[in-house]
Amino acid sequence: SMASPALLMRVVASAYSVAEKAATIVRNVMSAGDLGIVEKAGPDDLQTKADRLVQMSICASLARKFPKVTIIGEEELPAEDVTEDLIEDGHCEEILKKPCPAQYTGIKEEELVIWVDPLDGTKEYTEGLLDHVTVLIGIAYGGKAIAGVINQPYYNYEAGANAVLGRTIWGVLGMGAFGFQLTEAPAGKHIVVTTRSHSSALVNECIAALNPDHVIRVGGAGNKIIQLIEGKASAYVFASPGCKKWDTCAPEAILHAVGGKITDIRGNSFQYNKEVKHMNSAGILATLRNYDYYASRIPNTVKESLVP
Ligand code: AMP
Ligand code: MG
Ligand code: MG
Repeated sequence: SMASPALLMRVVASAYSVAEKAATIVRNVMSAGDLGIVEKAGPDDLQTKADRLVQMSICASLARKFPKVTIIGEEELPAEDVTEDLIEDGHCEEILKKPCPAQYTGIKEEELVIWVDPLDGTKEYTEGLLDHVTVLIGIAYGGKAIAGVINQPYYNYEAGANAVLGRTIWGVLGMGAFGFQLTEAPAGKHIVVTTRSHSSALVNECIAALNPDHVIRVGGAGNKIIQLIEGKASAYVFASPGCKKWDTCAPEAILHAVGGKITDIRGNSFQYNKEVKHMNSAGILATLRNYDYYASRIPNTVKESLVP
């Protein structure tokens, strides 16, 4: 008989199903029509009923199965009992069947940190830009992002009624990433993807210095990493604080699993241990290929304006 699957694979297999449940909640809140929008830091920092319900669903579902894992979610919610209808106890059988990379087979629950962004791209969700939205579950070990699940609840929503709505992308370092078609960006073209709703003079100055052929402005950190791995953009450039560890953990694991690279704008890697500061104060530079090309062209004045 087969040995029981390694903890990491059980966590990823469960996170996959938990993220699919999350996607159903995201779609149901939108179709019910009452988003229950609350401003957090200001009008560009929103929380909806979907952010709240999904965080409760993801955190409670994973905590029930993996009680000793540290789970850190974006939303600050009052302690209240989570109703049973929000609990997902399933897992993806296909993921459980895959062998765990050897370096991760001995991981214990206490050693994992799960970073949860229940709904990334909330501003765009409230504006009906639905395919910008993702659900992010990132898994860290030893301070590094090692596995992640990105669910895109409205993938294909403009493709017509026959298209399957939504998808789940997942990956593990040393194993690869699945649920999409890895595609290189057009050769010899510099296509930068950046924020749509959190621009600043510095954000734009940094992009201008790269002299890109084209700039794509879309919401969501998860969505922008998808643009990189599907060849829509060659670099994700965001010279601003604002993104947090839950925005980057799952995207980082998936990007690194396929050979890409993400750092802050100054070239420092991100840490994901439970004690770390949440804010990615020095912005984001991410690519699937040619990281050094972009890194070498970030102006020093921009780097010096962003303190990690
Ligand atoms: P964006 O690229 O603007 O969609 O941002 C990616 C993620 O970082 C989203 O979760 C945003 O909410 C968050 N974020 C980026 N900049 C800010 C900001 N200035 N204030 C609040 N959240 C931000
Ligand atoms: Mg987010
Ligand atoms: Mg969010």
